[in-house]
Amino acid sequence: MKTANKEITAVSLVQAALEKAHKFQETHHIFTFLNDVEAIKKAAEIDERIKKGENVGRLAGVPYALKDNFLSPEGETTASAHILQGFTSPVTATAVEKLEKEGAIMIGRTNLDAFAHGSSTENSYFGPTKNSKDLERVAGGSSGGSAVAVALDIVSFATGTDTGGSIRQPATFNGIYGLKPTYGTVSRYGVVAMGSSTDCVGFFAQTPEDLNLLMEITAGQDPKDMTTLPDFYGKDNEKFNDPIKKIGIIKDFDNDAVAPSIRKALADKVEELKAKGHEIVELNMPALKYALAAYYIIVPAEVASNLSRHDGVRYGFRSDKSDNLNDLYENTRNEGFMSENKRRIMTGNFVLSSGFYDAYYLKAAKARTMIINEYDDAFEKCDFILTPVSPNPAFKLGEKVDDPVAMYLEDMMSVSVNLAGLPGLAIPAGETEDGLSLGLQLVGPRRSDADLLKFAAEMDKDSHAGSIDSHADIFGGKD
Ligand code: GLN
Repeated sequence: MKTANKEITAVSLVQAALEKAHKFQETHHIFTFLNDVEAIKKAAEIDERIKKGENVGRLAGVPYALKDNFLSPEGETTASAHILQGFTSPVTATAVEKLEKEGAIMIGRTNLDAFAHGSSTENSYFGPTKNSKDLERVAGGSSGGSAVAVALDIVSFATGTDTGGSIRQPATFNGIYGLKPTYGTVSRYGVVAMGSSTDCVGFFAQTPEDLNLLMEITAGQDPKDMTTLPDFYGKDNEKFNDPIKKIGIIKDFDNDAVAPSIRKALADKVEELKAKGHEIVELNMPALKYALAAYYIIVPAEVASNLSRHDGVRYGFRSDKSDNLNDLYENTRNEGFMSENKRRIMTGNFVLSSGFYDAYYLKAAKARTMIINEYDDAFEKCDFILTPVSPNPAFKLGEKVDDPVAMYLEDMMSVSVNLAGLPGLAIPAGETEDGLSLGLQLVGPRRSDADLLKFAAEMDKDSHAGSIDSHADIFGGKD
């Protein structure tokens, strides 16, 4: 990614990004806020420091886009929800702090499905973001704005969150890389909570190398987020030293529910891997068929709890139709949440209610354990697993938004990775005949994030150079 230096100023980088952002905003509706004033001011400060010969960091003057569910005082943090409109955060998310300490400059906040509930960015209070390849199709979701901002080369990276696929699926729908790290790798302090047992902070970029740099900068234990793991990112992982990898393929995902173009992209990638000498391992993972149902019980249960704090009293939007406290809560929540938010709150409270807890929540928790065990067994037999991200390429705007089950089904191959806390990397995998982006995901064991990126970088390099041997110097050999 292009950083500022004595020849290329941060102001010129930021100006160029903002110009593009404004232009594409009209057609693609990517941003909920554009940081015109602050971004230029910060860039000028960086240029001053460069002039003085100071070290301004590894992301000096790099413009980036921030998913609008990360808190920072620049612009309102709305999570694309009406109920958060008017909320300017007094705190800054740890991930944002770390990026900006290295000189990155936020040029805009990106659109998402309100509270990250969705797979298309159509559930945004501000209206949908359009796909980077086809204006009649969805951007994917929930981090649709971030994915499109990178795909259209407005910025070289953007932040995302992935609770059930929200980085990997929009990355795939727009032909770029997207990493959902191991659960607990990047601090979630200052990120609007969705499903706390699966929420992850991650990134979109054009290359695995850029993702690696972003992870080096942002990964690490944070006293403000007790779910962060002790630092591991980038430490040696001997398990992955052998250049010949065993790649698992999940037979249970090879069925008619998956579009032919995606099955072909997977088959082609498998052939490519075999030709390079990698070993393919077929996996039977029958518990994965419970993943979607388990996810849509566990995550709404957590959503119901996390969204209970939005009451119209403490922050954001407040309905003015009420003359007593109870009505204030009810009217604010009724007017402030989107219907998908309400659906999840109701589902979540239902599955947790005393009469139904055993039948739903407890069962889902047991299914989750089966899924975790199945993945752990699979990683005894292979290094990484290669699967589709979603069953279809980007679908038409409006096609599924009124059919929640059809929308949920789009997540059937991404959510198990979240339930098991594993890292998942979306990689581009060509295009359909109509020019829509295709992608696949590489899934690894917990803490293999850097190895996944390295393998993806090798695959990418191989597809240009055509050889498997020595890539020890990828990422500067410091894995
Ligand atoms: N599409 C999934 C859902 O709606 C995932 C969302 C996400 O990862 N934030 O729950």
